[in-house]
Amino acid sequence: MAAAQNIVILTGAGVSGESGISTFRDAGGLWETHHFEDLASPEGFHRDPALVHRFYNLRRAQLHSVAPNAAHLALAEWESAWAGRGNFLLVTQNVDDLHERAGSKSLLHMHGELRKLRCAACGTVTPHLADASVDMRCTACGQTGYMRPDIVWFGEMPFHMEEIFTALDKADIFIAIGTSGVVYPAADFVQQARANGRACHTYEINPKPTGSSAFGTVIAEAATTGVPRLMREILG
Ligand code: ZN
Repeated sequence: MAAAQNIVILTGAGVSGESGISTFRDAGGLWETHHFEDLASPEGFHRDPALVHRFYNLRRAQLHSVAPNAAHLALAEWESAWAGRGNFLLVTQNVDDLHERAGSKSLLHMHGELRKLRCAACGTVTPHLADASVDMRCTACGQTGYMRPDIVWFGEMPFHMEEIFTALDKADIFIAIGTSGVVYPAADFVQQARANGRACHTYEINPKPTGSSAFGTVIAEAATTGVPRLMREILG
């Protein structure tokens, strides 16, 4: 029996972009008329929570009009096909729910999720698909005015970092798909994987490669074609 092969895959905005999800810089034009700190920081939320809710309500509403693409579907298929061969972990920087809707199970949202709210008073996270507003009450602690998007904002620590770095330390294959390569700590994942002593194979799939020399294989292709192709190649 062949040795276990552990895979860690990181997806970024390019994967959602092919489903028609605009980056938050396009959402509703608010990004153009407001400073990013007003829309995506704890201080901005403190100053004007109604504005921040409006911004994320627009983004959350966008989820209804998009569907998983061939890259999302291939990653879900890959996970099923990998059962028994090793660990499979999908890490996404995307805050939409397209990986879940495609069927991915072993999935970590390092930047949070649009379809969840978090109470800033007690920390309780609840699924929430409708518009959110300032006067919402937390069902756990009963306080009003603390419900915020469960999104990692500027100046906040990404979620699940310990779990992600533990997986990178055991990874035999690391693949970054549609990520800009400039947002830390995700930009360091490839280095972490390469340094783990397991001769980890590293791949980048991106129509506009980041230019990082840390990747052993660069596939300059859209995720919708590059992911299914690499999956077939690695599955054999
Ligand atoms: Zn609460």
